[in-house]
Amino acid sequence: MNLGDLPSEEFRAEAHRLVDWIAHYLEGSERYPVLARVKPGEVRASLPASPPASAEPLAAILADVERVIVPGLTHWNHPAFFAYFANSSPAAAILAEALSATFNANGMLWKTAPAATELELLVLDWLRQMLGLPAGLFGVIQDTASASTLVALAAAREAVPGLDVRRRGLSGSTRLRMYASEQAHSSVEKAGIVLGIGQDGLRKIPTDAEFRMDSSALALAVTEDRADGWTPFGVTATVGTTSTTSIDPVPAIADVCQREGLWLHVDAAYGGSAAVVPEMRFVLAGCERADSLVVNPHKWLFVPVDLSVLYTRRPDVVRAAFSLVPEYLRTPEAALAPNLMDYGVSLGRRFRALKLWMVIRAFGTEGLAARIREHVRLAQLFRSWVEADRAFEIAAATPFSVVCFRARFDGAAAEDADRRNQALMEAVNATGEAYLSHTKLHGRTVLRLAVGNLRTEERHVRRAWELLREYAQA
Ligand code: PLP
Repeated sequence: MNLGDLPSEEFRAEAHRLVDWIAHYLEGSERYPVLARVKPGEVRASLPASPPASAEPLAAILADVERVIVPGLTHWNHPAFFAYFANSSPAAAILAEALSATFNANGMLWKTAPAATELELLVLDWLRQMLGLPAGLFGVIQDTASASTLVALAAAREAVPGLDVRRRGLSGSTRLRMYASEQAHSSVEKAGIVLGIGQDGLRKIPTDAEFRMDSSALALAVTEDRADGWTPFGVTATVGTTSTTSIDPVPAIADVCQREGLWLHVDAAYGGSAAVVPEMRFVLAGCERADSLVVNPHKWLFVPVDLSVLYTRRPDVVRAAFSLVPEYLRTPEAALAPNLMDYGVSLGRRFRALKLWMVIRAFGTEGLAARIREHVRLAQLFRSWVEADRAFEIAAATPFSVVCFRARFDGAAAEDADRRNQALMEAVNATGEAYLSHTKLHGRTVLRLAVGNLRTEERHVRRAWELLREYAQA
């Protein structure tokens, strides 16, 4: 029995075949229905319930990928994927992921993968420059924005004077309070659950008519909470909220934070990428005053999941919250170069920086900006069609590339119109030609069309609109 890896001839032959398959898949992703048509449990039931006792050839395994896995996928690389925040895998990132697995570099310490650590520091400084953020920000890659926000809010908690949660835990009587708008992503609330702040420890601040945090209501809430015995410690502002992509007034929120001594975290997971477009840089106005900021290249910067970037002006506090170095992880270089395990929950860290570096190089900053600009143009075009059609209405502003809208269904009661909008979306999604998602605004169902895919062209957006009109009439 061979106790090593597969023979390299087999690897070489299958890898060559697979590259051809990948190119074919990406060229022709439109041949698949964008939304998977499988029923729950179907994929699992199509595969053996127990593992094979003896080795199987790679060719047979890859054949099953094509036969069972591909039909069981919703195709995020499909150009008519318009749901959630659409994103894509470009060629450079696919090759980077293959290289990352090839090196299997674990960048927990500088010493365990010097190039991984140094490339991460370098490429995050490139990205910082691309976003127009100030020099001196420290960046570290996390897997998701949820993790970045968790780490940021843990640092915010660490910064509360006299609390010392790290050592004493949360057994004291201090009732910590943090703030985010009622439109903030659920990852903020989840971080509160994990950090022992609790769901009650997050106060959701009302928003204005355009779904942006009301900074006066924030200031009032902090004052009220102090009077009621809470200890306010942090605010999460959002640049590009999940439902409508609204932009909280970061400069005014930063004023409140400064006055009240609160940590300001900015969730720019989606919207931050737009700042690579010079004329859209204003979306990050005020963010230079944030203590921490998250931006997700895996949302709108053409990097496949997973890659989230946490920037902070206060890496010492993040480190104070997370660094724990047992003897077996001590290295003489620790004083000379950062060990990135010190800035998050995970010890092991895969080599994610490679894909960001390769994507930035493969497109250039101008190429990235041009792609994002085109997505904004397509979204505005779609919005203009909705505005011009009496049977539909716009439900929110479109500062980025997501359009919130709904069919009016004139004469229908609110509940019925909501049900019919949901049915409309499901009917369009069932065609396999486009995939949209929905949200609720002021309790009403709203459809979202999010342009974010590298391969989306005007004809895809136009087809989605045709389908929506057709099914709305039906
Ligand atoms: N923040 C915002 C504004 C989001 O829209 C999302 C996800 O859509 C997240 C955070 C969480 O992102 P992730 O999946 O990277 O945890």
